[in-house]
Amino acid sequence: MAGVLAGRRGVVLGVANERSLAWGIAQAAAREGAELAFTFGAPVLEKRVRPLAAQAGSQLVFPCDVQDDVQIDDVFAAIQEEWGGLDFVVHAVAFADREELRGEFLETSREGFRLAMEVSAYSLVAVARRAVPLIKEGGSLLTLSYLGAERTVPHYNVMGVAKAALEASVRYLAADVGPRGVRVNGISAGPVRTLAAAGVGGFHAVLDWYAAAAPLRRATTQQEVGDAALLLLSDWGRGITGEILHVDSGYHSVGVPPTIGDTVG
Ligand code: NAP
Repeated sequence: MAGVLAGRRGVVLGVANERSLAWGIAQAAAREGAELAFTFGAPVLEKRVRPLAAQAGSQLVFPCDVQDDVQIDDVFAAIQEEWGGLDFVVHAVAFADREELRGEFLETSREGFRLAMEVSAYSLVAVARRAVPLIKEGGSLLTLSYLGAERTVPHYNVMGVAKAALEASVRYLAADVGPRGVRVNGISAGPVRTLAAAGVGGFHAVLDWYAAAAPLRRATTQQEVGDAALLLLSDWGRGITGEILHVDSGYHSVGVPPTIGDTVG
């Protein structure tokens, strides 16, 4: 099949349903010719992920709770056996307890902090350790972040701190694996209505705010994230590593939002 990812093989972690950002990336990658394998976290999600994988032409679906090193080992052992190597990994996994995503960061519990960091930041390192030995020269890892890593966003709290650690991990991993010809990047996506996003207090208000204040005056879509991922996963992005690309209608670039400008003339 022709396409910018023709002949490339990738593993996608983080498809929960058809709204998942990972699914937007998977659809774009499959459209551009990639052969894909998928993982699911919670066992109940297997029945949702298998039909989506089939839509993307894949029967390769593996359990992978990123808190379990044995499951991560098993995924990449299976990939090695099936494909002998791979070209890219999409890491679109994050979790924090709901009660940590309301109210003040000041109230973050020790356990809530540990869990958010482990699932949302360390998991990239854990996955990279297993994946990099299989990734061919020119291949890459891609993760998903959010502006809450750089600036405070109400209620994003410990997830913002975990995303800051994730973005730093992108840079450190990029430094380690660059000499092997492997790249590591992130997309900082604007808010998109997904299961994970619904867990963040005040999410709908933030979504509306982006649509009003971003230069493009609209919210980010799953398809926009998928299309931007093609740049970072393909040879088009062969010179890009250690990068966090904002795909957020330009919201990150705004100092004073236009709605405030209107009130001052
Ligand atoms: P989503 O569809 O709910 O995806 C989140 C994924 O994380 C699910 O597949 C979930 O699987 C997985 N996950 C959570 N804990 C896991 C664990 N222990 N092991 C394995 N997988 C686990 O939501 P999404 O918005 O697309 O999120 C994908 C990524 O995009 C996340 O990193 C998120 O922070 C980031 N992001 C989202 C937005 C947004 O507005 N939606 C914006 C910027 C960045 P299970 O349910 O099976 O555990």
